[in-house]
Amino acid sequence: MFRLFSSGVDDLVLISSPSNGEVANNLGARFDRELIYTNIGEVLIALNPYKQLPITGPEFIKMYQNSPGTGEAPPHIYALAERAFRRLVDDGESQCVIISGESGAGKTVSAKLLLQYITAVSPNNSYGASVANANGGGNSLPQYDGSSELVEDEDNLPQYDGGSDPPMGRGFGLPPIGANGGGRGRAVPPPTNRAPPPQPGGGRGKPPPPVNNNRPPPSVPSGGGRGGPPPPVNGGGRGRAPPPPRGGGRGGGPPPKIVPSGSSRSNKQVDVEYIKKIILESNPLMEAIGNAKTVRNDNSSRFGKYLEIQFSDNNAPVGGQISTFLLEKTRVTFQQKHERNFHIFYQMLAGLDQGKKSEWGLTQATDFYYLAQSGCTTIEDVNDGNDFMEVQQAMDTVGISKSEQNDIFRILAAILHIGNIRFQGEPPAEIIDDTPVQWASSLLGVDPQFLAQSLNHRQIQSGSVRHTQYAVPQNPDQAAGLRDALAKTLYDRIFEFVVARINQTMQYFGSAKVIGVLDIYGFESFDRNSLEQFNINYVNERLQQIFIDLTVRGEQREYHEEGLKWKDISFFDNKIVVDLIDASKPPGIMRVLDDVCKTVHAVDSATADQKFMEKLIHAIPNHPHLLISNTGSGANEFTIKHYAGEVTYNVEEFCFKNNDNLYASIVACMQTSSYDFISNTLFPDQLGNNTISSCTYKIMNSANELVKKLSSCTPHYIRCIKPNDKKQPMNFVSSRVEYQVKYLGLLENIKVKRSGYAYRQMTRYFLDRFGKIFDQPPRSIPEFVDQICRKCPEIKNDEFEEGKSKVFVRSPETIFIMEDQLMQ
Ligand code: ATP
Ligand code: MG
Repeated sequence: MFRLFSSGVDDLVLISSPSNGEVANNLGARFDRELIYTNIGEVLIALNPYKQLPITGPEFIKMYQNSPGTGEAPPHIYALAERAFRRLVDDGESQCVIISGESGAGKTVSAKLLLQYITAVSPNNSYGASVANANGGGNSLPQYDGSSELVEDEDNLPQYDGGSDPPMGRGFGLPPIGANGGGRGRAVPPPTNRAPPPQPGGGRGKPPPPVNNNRPPPSVPSGGGRGGPPPPVNGGGRGRAPPPPRGGGRGGGPPPKIVPSGSSRSNKQVDVEYIKKIILESNPLMEAIGNAKTVRNDNSSRFGKYLEIQFSDNNAPVGGQISTFLLEKTRVTFQQKHERNFHIFYQMLAGLDQGKKSEWGLTQATDFYYLAQSGCTTIEDVNDGNDFMEVQQAMDTVGISKSEQNDIFRILAAILHIGNIRFQGEPPAEIIDDTPVQWASSLLGVDPQFLAQSLNHRQIQSGSVRHTQYAVPQNPDQAAGLRDALAKTLYDRIFEFVVARINQTMQYFGSAKVIGVLDIYGFESFDRNSLEQFNINYVNERLQQIFIDLTVRGEQREYHEEGLKWKDISFFDNKIVVDLIDASKPPGIMRVLDDVCKTVHAVDSATADQKFMEKLIHAIPNHPHLLISNTGSGANEFTIKHYAGEVTYNVEEFCFKNNDNLYASIVACMQTSSYDFISNTLFPDQLGNNTISSCTYKIMNSANELVKKLSSCTPHYIRCIKPNDKKQPMNFVSSRVEYQVKYLGLLENIKVKRSGYAYRQMTRYFLDRFGKIFDQPPRSIPEFVDQICRKCPEIKNDEFEEGKSKVFVRSPETIFIMEDQLMQ
């Protein structure tokens, strides 16, 4: 079952003539024997088997925990996890694991297996117990006490019994989260002078009628005849004090209200098992709000995630932090055929009790445009109702109070109603049917007329005369754009709230070494690529840059540490592509885009995109990695030669998507909410602050921060590969694999490795193993070199170099010859 030496080339550095095809063949041969893991040195290649192989779980964790050093245990994700954990323990250095690969390749499953391993082998308290020694003694798995139980489920992941642990603030000496801020999270709509929501069943439950632009324009702008003009901003006259002054903007960080300040936790107070529980249970919660069914993957992560686990001096997890990237907000309002919205919507519809559903006007998925448009509302073998229970339990665990959960689900219900709002007529567009807007406003605690007014008028601040606001009437399409912007913003802020709360609950205030796990979208190249792909590919360029940098640097460091002579390796430095995208001087593509977005708010989206294209052509002429084939007036595409291949981007909607500034009218409306959770917690924005916030600018900053964090760690890499596009178990399609081998840059990786030393091993293991070639095993490396060169004249003595603790062998052929000799 567990073979210390798996057959075949389990390290691709050893293949005889490396080419993309040869690498794919080797992977295929191993895959046929259900060997899904292969190494390139310390880089792990993981193929997705699309079936549960009996190679994970507590028994295997135990074996890898006790395996000898690198190079001896067969390639496995646990071997990589063990190596990372061992280095944390032995060297006291922070580690990071960078997982990459295309959608459906198995990144998220790999991340879970890593966390499973690390939580299993690390101690359960932050003092006393030390980690079981991998090389002897300490054979036992960590002992989980009654509150947590290591069991194997379908996914072989540790499951906690969902017992009766107090969910919040446990062991931290903090008051239960949510206990402050009284009045937060009211469960019922506030009594206001607005119309009550329609009774369940009345008029809702049907998809909204199509927009009928032929209808005559209404005599009164939206809201006419529905109870007077909208109230002034900030809820004046509705019995609610204006919100207190708010901290400046969101800045991507957690909303300020929910982060405790000035408190500090000492190691002694940390409940390590609780931290482990959060690390594991936050997964289903994050997946519920951040994952969705796509055509490529039934559980596709629509955001990038970097989870850092912080460790105490005795290597127990004492805290954690999650950073997220690039949540695909557009999915809230649009999905292509056969895809779904984020899981949480369907889970809620399947799992909420009938009383709550009636109270919130919820029926079935097909009644809501945001869920119905793609024609897909279910996933094979997934029970949304059961998953909802798990999500609620995870919310308890991470410290989201029941009343906050109620707030969150109520806002999600509001989003579904918002999606059913339709417009028609001349600007300002009229709302066709009041029912959804009534529901949405009731669930959001805002005045329905004010909500309607915020959607069919857009507030624009004059650039020349400060503080002068114009309310520009919107046509039906523009109003629909504002409606979708509201839905996306609400969703995004819920997502950020949840992440911030998990972080707050896991936060450790001392300095600590970390193991970080990065699970982020791989390089994307579709038939049509837009700003989303541009941003994703930019982050991948940055990751590739540190991949090359760190692997070469790591290699060099090892040679230096071992005292070897070292000659420089040349490799493609993709800095030129990174600069093309993010440089400020001369301006890169992002800078050009931002400059255009700052100046074109008064024009429509298509004109803005056109201006961007014109500026791009002028600002970056003759760049070897930028191709613009049509430089005429209708140009709407540019091509970047990425490290992983050429991608052509269509600029349509680039400017619109890049402008992440919130629409002032929407924020103003949300800040009138009678629900403190909405007006204060989710929308602490300071309006009137004119700073431009662009999507690409944020990505660049997050990428900078990420690179900084990763660069301070010892890196470990997992390159995931998807063997077929049909999610079929154990089906290996060579062309698909070869393509990924190419764009993951595996060949380059192998070559970098080979131009140094193809093979390295601890001296004593090396002598133990290859000494068997001889009747009289040599006792030292010089003796070995002498004997092997005499026995095999094709081996030259400069093939070997002995370092302080390891022996290095230059070419794989030498290893092949020695392996052959062993067989004889
Ligand atoms: P995305 O970028 O879309 O989030 P991903 O790389 O995270 O994709 P996963 O969600 O990890 O992909 O994997 C897709 C599916 O493939 C899983 O839901 C699971 O069914 C299967 N799978 C992946 N890895 C394994 C594995 N090691 N063993 C068994 N099945 C796996
Ligand atoms: Mg994923």
